[in-house]
Amino acid sequence: MVLFEDLGKQTWGYYSHTNRIPVIHINNRLNQEHATYTCGHELGHAVLHSGINTPFLRSNTFYSVDKLERQAHRLAVHLLIGLNEPDQGETKRQFLIRCGIPEMFHVFY
Ligand SMILES: [Zn+2]
Repeated sequence: MVLFEDLGKQTWGYYSHTNRIPVIHINNRLNQEHATYTCGHELGHAVLHSGINTPFLRSNTFYSVDKLERQAHRLAVHLLIGLNEPDQGETKRQFLIRCGIPEMFHVFY
């Protein structure tokens, strides 16, 4: 289940698992790109860390991420890349932006 909610100014989303119901929460203040990335990230938690309620993905903790967070970021990046490949002459940055990955998360590629 994916819920779009007002999570304030700093929280992008989180994953919860209550009564065996996995729920992805996405801040409805995010733009499309950030909401899509957040969904991929929280889906990573749902797949890789099911049964665990993960901490909030906050805009100010991108670089202080623990192992679970890094795994969810990597899965989100790979989900968004999908079968895309860099075009000839395209930089890594251009490629990742084309795939809809916010620049602050390129470190997880
Ligand atoms: Zn997370």
